[in-house]
Amino acid sequence: MARRLKCKFCENEPYIYLKEYRLFLCKEHFINWIEKYVLETIKDFKMFSKNNKLLVCISGGKDSVALLSILKSLGFKVYPFFINLGIEKNDFSKKSLKVVERVCKILNLPLYIYDVKGILNYSPFEIAKALKRDEFCSICGTLKRYAMEMGARYFNADVIVTGHNLNDETENLLLNVLNWKLTYLARQGPVLKEEKGFKRKVKPLFKLKEKYLYFYVKAKNLPFLEGKCPYSVGASRYIYRKALNFIEENMPGTLLRFYLEFLKKAKPIFENLFKNEEEKKLHPCKRCSYPTSRDDYCLICSYLDKTKAFFEKRVSKKEDK
Ligand SMILES: [Zn+2]
Ligand SMILES: [Zn+2]
Repeated sequence: MARRLKCKFCENEPYIYLKEYRLFLCKEHFINWIEKYVLETIKDFKMFSKNNKLLVCISGGKDSVALLSILKSLGFKVYPFFINLGIEKNDFSKKSLKVVERVCKILNLPLYIYDVKGILNYSPFEIAKALKRDEFCSICGTLKRYAMEMGARYFNADVIVTGHNLNDETENLLLNVLNWKLTYLARQGPVLKEEKGFKRKVKPLFKLKEKYLYFYVKAKNLPFLEGKCPYSVGASRYIYRKALNFIEENMPGTLLRFYLEFLKKAKPIFENLFKNEEEKKLHPCKRCSYPTSRDDYCLICSYLDKTKAFFEKRVSKKEDK
């Protein structure tokens, strides 16, 4: 007679099989396992402690929803932080905000919103239009980093925490290796130390596959937004992701080994390469105090000046007619 499958820690039916750890777990023990695993990662990589105030960036996707729930369960001081980018296509920002509001209500946490247009006067779209730039995503990324930093300052948070998972991290690593982006390889990792006016940035989920985070959020019955930003569909990234998934399916555990061995064996070599390079001199922007190597205003302030000039010119042109 076939033996009935059961959870490694109790008599219950398994909810999930963690292939690379050879573990069958029921729902409850899977939730415990994930939370303990993240706590160990936080400790092993000296990310933060219970005394630290954490700005937790939440987008509404499964990863950041899982992140917030895990950190809350573990008893950390969390400040959920949502950046409203005002992306209208597919109602993306509106839908994201709704999900994030629901998650915070369920977890009984206050939500802090950084409204880009409300605070900076212009949306990422208007800025991209004024700068005549096609790479909307890179402007959006720059704005997000800026918003996180400013948010962390506002709440006097010590650490900025994001929900990057193992698939995100190995995808970036593969991309950086295949293109030999040495400066990126020297910096890539789960902990970016605080420096020159920038807050510490950490990724406590970097050892977990996105599949497990999906099952965690499902097990906790938390809402999340499926699908990514409608503008983030990069064809080459998709190929890297697919290739890595194929490798992982056939050789479970490879992704984690690839990444951890990189941190241990390869990253120090790349770091060494740039050790003697003259460090960029950063000082606070004269207007907003964001760290910058530029003479007067930071990149964002200069974007905003250009955008303002662009729209004023358009208004005066209209008035001339
Ligand atoms: Zn169990
Ligand atoms: Zn500035």
